[in-house]
Amino acid sequence: MPALDLSAAGLKPLAPRSSEPFIGVLRGLTEDSATARDKEILLVRRPLARLPPGFRGYLLMEEGWVDPSLKDVYVLPSNLGYLAEGDVVRIHPTRGALTTLYRRTSPSNTFLVTERCDNNCLMCSQPPRKQDDSWLVDELMETLPLISPETRELGITGGEPSLLKGRLIELLERMKHHLPRTSVHLLTNGRGFANPELARALAKVQHPDLMLGVPLYSDLPEAHDYVVQALGAFDETVRGILQLKRARVRVELRCVIHAQTYSRLPQLADFITRNLLFVDHVALMGLEQMGFARANLGLLWIDPLDYQAQLIAAVRTLSRAGLDTSIYNHSLCTLPTELHSFARKSISDWKNLYVEECERCTRRADCGGFFASGLAKRSRGIQPFQD
Ligand code: SF4
Repeated sequence: MPALDLSAAGLKPLAPRSSEPFIGVLRGLTEDSATARDKEILLVRRPLARLPPGFRGYLLMEEGWVDPSLKDVYVLPSNLGYLAEGDVVRIHPTRGALTTLYRRTSPSNTFLVTERCDNNCLMCSQPPRKQDDSWLVDELMETLPLISPETRELGITGGEPSLLKGRLIELLERMKHHLPRTSVHLLTNGRGFANPELARALAKVQHPDLMLGVPLYSDLPEAHDYVVQALGAFDETVRGILQLKRARVRVELRCVIHAQTYSRLPQLADFITRNLLFVDHVALMGLEQMGFARANLGLLWIDPLDYQAQLIAAVRTLSRAGLDTSIYNHSLCTLPTELHSFARKSISDWKNLYVEECERCTRRADCGGFFASGLAKRSRGIQPFQD
């Protein structure tokens, strides 16, 4: 799952600019002005006779007069009109660009912590890159104190976060410190946690609400290794899951369903119930058509209508064994009625869309719709409910 990365150019400078990018939380004029403002950016919705001094920067919805002594004052382009107080942004003064790092009202803020990965999955939506990107964690560390403590959940994704080793542990300690009431969902291929020391270090953080999402694509090692394009990955992932559970870390298994995985879904469910019954959640997921998945669509695409039998069998096995089971990233109209109660609205709000048929659908409020990132292939089962 890619991280939230809403970048836009088009900031119009009205005052001298800083030479380096900077991060700040958006504040309105009515909020408490006694707090330190070196990390605050004033969001100005209507022109003011005078901008109050002392903020790290200023974002104006409309152009107005600006005191020449101020610095980093920008007019926002209209496509950034969604910004609101409490959001955290990075401003790139020299490029006149802004990246939204966190949206206060969004239920699905996710942070990319590295683009490096030791898997190379056929359907990766965030294809790995090799360069040193330690600045990503530095930036998140700087962002955490600016995030609302009322945030319900944050996601951590990569690349492969466990490659960060000690820095990942440090990051989770900071998250626990700054946001003790916020759930953290960490996506990992699990291989790094085959090292019991890393699994124990993670457990030692004692984060109050942490879940690790670990993909498992088949009961056959060679089939899993083919999907992730890494020899020996299955064994390491399973050992990682065992070490995490031994250390009492919560684990969710994730299986993306596509043409290379659907046929053994029933056997995968059997494998899970026989060997990994102690996991905390199982998510059976539809394919997101972006990144490598888009490039490999010929190899991966299968219409969800064509794997209904395998999906029903897998869900029956998992739920009868008492495993908490969910279906993610599927439109309701492509699922048999028996599975509707397992379907979740799982697509993040900022990358979710509905198609024309959905306008007439009576179940739209319960349906997750589609990924905005790609609809190159559409199920032949998309049709509105009329009940
Ligand atoms: S028609 Fe649209 S809203 Fe209705 S179930 Fe299908 S995808 Fe969902």
